[in-house]
Amino acid sequence: MINKGNLLSEGKAKSLFETDQQEKLLMVYRDDTSAFDGKKKEALKGKGEINNKFNAHIMKYLEDNGIQTHHIETISENESLVRRLDMLPVECVVRNIATGSICRRLGVKQGLVFEEPLFEFFLKDDDLGDPLINDNHIIAFKWGTADEIEIMKEKTLIINGLLCKIFSEVGLTLVDYKVEFGRSGGDIILGDEFTPDGCRIWDKETGESLDKDRFRKDLGDVVESYQIVAHKLGISI
Ligand code: 5GP
Repeated sequence: MINKGNLLSEGKAKSLFETDQQEKLLMVYRDDTSAFDGKKKEALKGKGEINNKFNAHIMKYLEDNGIQTHHIETISENESLVRRLDMLPVECVVRNIATGSICRRLGVKQGLVFEEPLFEFFLKDDDLGDPLINDNHIIAFKWGTADEIEIMKEKTLIINGLLCKIFSEVGLTLVDYKVEFGRSGGDIILGDEFTPDGCRIWDKETGESLDKDRFRKDLGDVVESYQIVAHKLGISI
């Protein structure tokens, strides 16, 4: 039995609490949904529960395939226990197909399939709109070391291979996603979450978006779409 302690941080869709065990934190998935750096917000009933279970399934799969993650266990419908990490303030994005910000930034044709997955770093800073950064910025501003940069890139790309496979097997395309890492002991460990809030998933046949783009673009059926993906992956909600 673990007891919830003080609120450590409140993100746009999750809250993080201390527990009576120094090294373990409680991650609470809320129904809150936001886009455009928090400018668009809405509570979508049931999203917290789906994301909690979705994330647990993905983290377990990654662990089983050699990627260390902070996930320990799911302890309620919308709460999971995680290891305390010292998070690096960067987002690691991998793109398999061009859409979203890369098309706006570089004028790339929407839907272009990259020959190799494309990796990008973004700074985690809502006030600045999470700007694109490169390795030199990370080193110059001491957001991470050269070794940490290499480990984050390597792990993010391994994750891409592992996840593309399971999505593809159930008729889905993993278009792009964002992951975050943290330090623990001497290790760099996958933290935060992997849910349809932070990735793009398209139906292979129809091309339909089954992720947070439904919220961003007012397409409706946001939670229902997350449910469809969860169901296909064999996650029981
Ligand atoms: P883009 O750069 O095209 O906006 O996003 C690329 C991918 O990373 C998308 O799957 C998007 O959902 C995810 N992503 C980028 N930034 C964030 C963020 O701040 N929060 C979340 N949840 N996902 C993000």
